Amino acid sequence: MSIFTKIITGEIPSYKVAENADFIAFLDINPNAKGHTLVVPKKEENKIFDLSKEAYASLMGFSYQVAKAIEKTLPCKRVGMSVIGLEVPHVHVHLIPLNAMADIQFMQKVTFSKEEFVDLAEAISKNF
Ligand code: 5GP
Repeated sequence: MSIFTKIITGEIPSYKVAENADFIAFLDINPNAKGHTLVVPKKEENKIFDLSKEAYASLMGFSYQVAKAIEKTLPCKRVGMSVIGLEVPHVHVHLIPLNAMADIQFMQKVTFSKEEFVDLAEAISKNF
């Protein structure tokens, strides 16, 4: 069972931004930038291009809605999107508010207190 499935089942906590029957979005715990969010299908699958075309399109549709909410909440040049999965083998889309190329490079990290994570997740969630 992946760490993200444990988040989905509530076994471990997360700062939730949005959810429907098939997907969940929560803040990345080690973010590149403020508002860095992960969009995850509830059905555990390792690699994004092993999804059916339909499941892939649904994931993109949900990610689109989450990205709109992030854009409304946080000033940034644009919301960037990345799919990696080398650390957690459970499909997830990274949505990252970008102001500089460094924000999408997964080298520079920013830290927040629990309260800041809670407030941020709530703010994005309200715009979803
Ligand atoms: P990737 O698999 O795409 O290379 O990276 C996995 C991402 O998931 C990383 O950005 C990492 O910070 C994030 N991550 C790993 N474990 C957890 C967790 O338990 N909770 C949350 N919210 N994010 C996590």
